[in-house]
This record gives sequence, structure tokens and C-alpha cells, in this order.
Amino acid sequence: MRREDAPHVARKAYFRGREMFYRSTRGGIDGLTASDTITRGIAPDGGLFVPESQVRLSLDEIENMSAMNYAERAVFILKPFLGDFSEDEIRDCVNKAYTREKFDSDRVVPLRKLNENVSILELWHGPTCAFKDLALQILPHLLLKAAGKTGESREIVILVATSGDTGKAALEGFKDVDGTKVIVFYPEDGVSRVQKLQMITQEGSNVYTVGVKGNFDDAQNGAKEIFNDAALREVMDKKGYTFSSANSINWGRLVPQTVYYVSAYADMLESGEIKPGEKINIVVPTGNFGNILAAYYAAAMGLPVNRLICASNENNVLTDFINTGIYDRNRRFIKTLSPSMDILISSNLERLLFELTDHSGKKVAGWMAELSARGTYTVDKTTLKRIQKLFWAGFTNDDETLKTIECIYKEYGYLVDTHTAVAIDVYDRYVISTGDMTKTVIASTASPFKFNESVAKAVFGQESIKGLGEFQLLDKLSKGCGLEIPPGLRDLDKKEIRHKLVCERTQMKKAVMEILGIQ
Ligand SMILES: *Cc1c(COP(=O)(O)O)cnc(C)c1O
Repeated sequence: MRREDAPHVARKAYFRGREMFYRSTRGGIDGLTASDTITRGIAPDGGLFVPESQVRLSLDEIENMSAMNYAERAVFILKPFLGDFSEDEIRDCVNKAYTREKFDSDRVVPLRKLNENVSILELWHGPTCAFKDLALQILPHLLLKAAGKTGESREIVILVATSGDTGKAALEGFKDVDGTKVIVFYPEDGVSRVQKLQMITQEGSNVYTVGVKGNFDDAQNGAKEIFNDAALREVMDKKGYTFSSANSINWGRLVPQTVYYVSAYADMLESGEIKPGEKINIVVPTGNFGNILAAYYAAAMGLPVNRLICASNENNVLTDFINTGIYDRNRRFIKTLSPSMDILISSNLERLLFELTDHSGKKVAGWMAELSARGTYTVDKTTLKRIQKLFWAGFTNDDETLKTIECIYKEYGYLVDTHTAVAIDVYDRYVISTGDMTKTVIASTASPFKFNESVAKAVFGQESIKGLGEFQLLDKLSKGCGLEIPPGLRDLDKKEIRHKLVCERTQMKKAVMEILGIQ
């Protein structure tokens, strides 16, 4: 839809950005500014914040973006969403985030053409080598400005529970940012050696990394309990601290992710790959439904999209949901070679449900109550039809993931990580099942070096990597494939270990209090 055809509210939201407000997906609160939304993170009724008006991009505007660099594109797209930020403030945040110093590519998110139909959107050129950097490099700056606007004078303590990638990206994003502290809890034995070293060698005066004796769920539940501890909040308040969140339930983390999908389209226009208005498919390897939801919002803004393809590993709760309308988390949790997608509760799906039920907070609240009470809910036929009109879902297993890495390397000399390989394999299934030859963008979410063991095994075979340590594997991949080890992973073994704290699952609150000097 062109902007001129958009409903009146949308135009108002677009032309007079200050009119943009946010509400909860469960209907309990509305009329919040972008600043309020970003500082709060999650709505008081348990829902997630969503925009109240539809932002529209016209085709002319998307075409004009072809001549812009990534930072300029980001300012243009973020502006209508951040109603109470001035353009200068947004530009300041963007310019601090997407620098050549932080991203080892001038384009920030280079698009690499794989074959006639498929381009790979490389989202891993940031400091921690996964797509989380695109949001977590800018979120601290947005959060600080937002806190200033809402009159928040307390120091903001960001609590993060991570299965590996979010923790490191949050540490890098928030390190030495005035007015903030970041505390990351990771499962002590549940992350890869590279991921662990990335976190425990983290530099910065305001960052803390704590290993938890338990799995990711333990760390996440512990963090949630700390968030909801009223007595602790009171003490924190007296000491001048407040908590916030850096995971994708925070709108401030989600909205920067819409930028790279529009940017990819602008790149394809620029290279002549597509004609203005031509629809594309977007394939996203999915866990918490955050990254693919950003693609949905890009499509809702007017990006010409044919299908959004939701790719899962064997934790295929989303595949089942999109194919049947039944969300059922009552199943075995499977540890896979694409661990960042090992998740059974995809939080951001709630936002999609709200958008596709004509904004029925009542329906969404009902389903979420069923999910927490029984672990399952079923959406109505109309909602399911709307989902299936835009989304297609599939999943794959570890064997096929490794085979895909090997095939892609053999055929194109191009190395992909396990998560990206899941997306590529599911896309193949999509093409076989539908025959659709629409030009397609596949989101590549991590550098192959970050999941070096699986990637080396796929490319060189199990035998030739036997007995090799993490860093020998990095070297082997680098030499064998003629690729440089990314700066963020280079020399990790030579860095000083700065964070040695490990605690029991039940001691997480105590650890937080000690770090903050609270008795
Ligand atoms: C976080 C992550 C994902 C999943 O993204 P969601 O937004 O949770 O769907 C996929 N791949 C990698 C490498 C990740 O770090």
C-alpha cells in the first residue's frame, strides 16, 4: 500500500512522529510513549508492547533508500516509531551503534548473492559475530535517551539470562555506557567454549558475568524471580537502581531489526536484482520469534513480501503451530547443533497474534493464560488463515543441518553456521513443496566461526577434527577455507579471564545484591 492510501491514523503517525504511542498485547495499558515503552521493557499486565498506529513506507521511500547508507536507512525507518525522540537524537544513537569500528563491513549487513534466486543477508559482522549485535549495539543508546525523557535518574541494571549469544552481545553493547550496569547469567556448562570465553573475558567497568550451576531455564527463571521481587525492588530504589531487560521482549530491541530487512530490499533494487514493487520471500531461522517478527513488521510497513518462511530445528513447536493453529509446548526439549533456537516458548509470537486478531487483547490474554496453565492453546480458524497467508513453516534435524553446510560449501565455496543451515534446508523444503521461485533473502544469523565444531565437522569430516581443541578448530576452519577468524573471536584464548563468579541457581539474587553493594 502506498502511503497516500494508508488510513488516516497511519499518515498521522508517519508525518507527525510524536503521535506514536504503544499499548500492551493484553489490553491492560495504552498511550505510552516510545521512551516509556523502552525503559519498561515489559507491560505491567504481563503483555508485550506494540505500536498503536501503523507505520507505512511508500515504494518511493524504499527506492530512495537505495542511495542511502545503512545508518541513514536506520534513521529513516526508526523515526516514526520513536515518536518522542528527535531526528538528531535518533541519528546520534544510530551513529554510535553502526560504526566501522564495531562492524567489519562498510555495509553493516552485506547481502551476498548465492544463486539466481537466493541472497544471504549476513547479520553477523558485529563485535560478537551473531545478529543480536544489530539490536544490542543501539539499544543502550536508545535506553539512555529514553531514561532521560521519562525522568529516570536511577542507574539502570540490565539483567540478562542467556543461552550464549544474547549475553555477549548485551555485554558488548552496554560496556562502559554511563548510567547502566549489565549482569549476565549463563548456564555454566551449557554454552560452547567460545561463547563462555567471550563472556568471561569481557572488558568494561560496568559489566558482570555470572555462571549458574544449572541449565538455561534455571538461569532464566532465576532472572525472572529477581525481576518480580518487590522487596528487592524497594531496596534497589533506595540505593538508586532500577532493573530493565535487554532481550527481545523489549520493543527497543525488536524495532532496530526491521531496518535490515528493508535495507536488504533497497540493496536488491540498487543491484537490479529486483524491480521496484517486486515481492520477495524472507527465510528466518527462528527461536523466540523475534527476528522473524521484525520481518513481519517490515512487511506490515509496506515492504513487498510474498512469504515469510519460519525455519526451526527439532524443537519444532512453531512449525506445528503455523501448520495447525495449535501451540503446544508439552514436548521434549531437544539439545541441537543450533542451540540459539532451542526454545519451546516463543515469546514474540504474542505480538503477531495481537496484530492478526484485529488487536484483540482479550483473545491474546486468554491464549497466554492457557499457555501458562496448560502449556497449550489453539487459535481460531480466521487467525490461523491470516497466519498461513503470510507464513510458511518447516523444520529440520542435525544430520540434515550438517549435510546442508557441506553441500553449500561444496557447491558455492560459501561457509554457513548451523542456524543459517537450518534456514537454507527449510527453504529447500519450501521450494520443493510449493514450486515458488520468488527471489528470496535468507537471514544468516551467526558467523560460521561461532559454531566452529559443527561447521568443521560438516566440511572436513569427523575424523579429521578428532581431538582438536576449540582454538585449533578455529585455525583449521580459517586455513582450510581461506577465511579470516573474526576479530571478536581471535585471540580469545590469550585474553585475561575477568569474571570468575559462579553461583547456585538459588544464589542468583544474592549475587546481584553483592554486585550492587546492597545488603
Ligand atoms: C538468537 C538467535 C536465533 C533466534 O532468533 P529469535 O529472534 O530468537 O528467533 C537464531 N540464530 C542465532 C545465531 C541466534 O543467536
